[in-house]
Amino acid sequence: MTSPTVGVLALQGNVREHLAALTAAGATAVPVRRTSELDAVDAIVLPGGESTTMSKLLDVFELLEPLRARLRAGMPAYGSCAGMILLAEEILDGRPDQHQLGGLDVVVRRNAFGRQADSFETDLEFDGLPGGPVHAVFIRAPWVEKTGGEVEVLASVPHVDVAGAAAGRPVAIRQGAVLATSFHPELTGDGRVHDLFVDMVRTS
Ligand code: GLN
Repeated sequence: MTSPTVGVLALQGNVREHLAALTAAGATAVPVRRTSELDAVDAIVLPGGESTTMSKLLDVFELLEPLRARLRAGMPAYGSCAGMILLAEEILDGRPDQHQLGGLDVVVRRNAFGRQADSFETDLEFDGLPGGPVHAVFIRAPWVEKTGGEVEVLASVPHVDVAGAAAGRPVAIRQGAVLATSFHPELTGDGRVHDLFVDMVRTS
């Protein structure tokens, strides 16, 4: 599988940016809005956006159960920001009616960086990525509060002054073929996280 077909859930959010980053990483990138499109992909990206809106649209487009089934069957997935929230087993500060897809045995806190400080940027050490730190942009982002035994933490917020309560929180994690970041590598033109994910898809 030299050029795996990777879908981007295209109900809302940063769809175009992920399609471009996946294409640059060597995948055949396609938007996914219907079950027939989901059936045709080897892996899926859940973009940043608004997890409560995506959750509602998953119902409208009848994608909730098909996506859950593919994830249970081991389809590789990458969630950025709202996508991380959708993949988490448990959300703090979510809406009570918002759906979880599952796949990541973690508890995440939604809008964890605080509503006043809507966005936050920092450089992160990211395990397994060549070429030095990643510049991470957080936009009303979640962080990870608790990880299950099979979850690998790939990056955490560094202990710098501006980080405040975010210091030390995991913001990039992996569990088997499922990857998630609280930040948006699709917005900074750094292709390394998408390269990592496409490699994960090739070897899964
Ligand atoms: N706060 C958003 C949510 O709850 C996530 C923000 C983002 O994806 N940039 O889904």
